[in-house]
Amino acid sequence: MTIASEKHTVELMIKLYCHSAHKSNELCPECLQLLSYAHERLEKCIYGDKKTSCKKCLTHCYKKDMRNQIKKVMRYSGPRMLWHYPLLFLKHTLSPK
Ligand SMILES: [Zn+2]
Repeated sequence: MTIASEKHTVELMIKLYCHSAHKSNELCPECLQLLSYAHERLEKCIYGDKKTSCKKCLTHCYKKDMRNQIKKVMRYSGPRMLWHYPLLFLKHTLSPK
């Protein structure tokens, strides 16, 4: 996974979550903030393009409240990504470690 595709994935996940949890077509301000935080973390990620998956390391680099929010998003959108974006999901899962 590259940083660019991680960014794309997290954006899709947050959109999916916001659409359902906040009944918002566009991202609500709260989710927009979470997204820009997530993107910022990715940009500053020490592993760069060599890292495996954010699921393994985001819990260590997010601050507490953002971490709780992104966990909610992942819990909701994680399984649904398989349904909505099966190819993306496969790429994510099968990408070499
Ligand atoms: Zn929202």
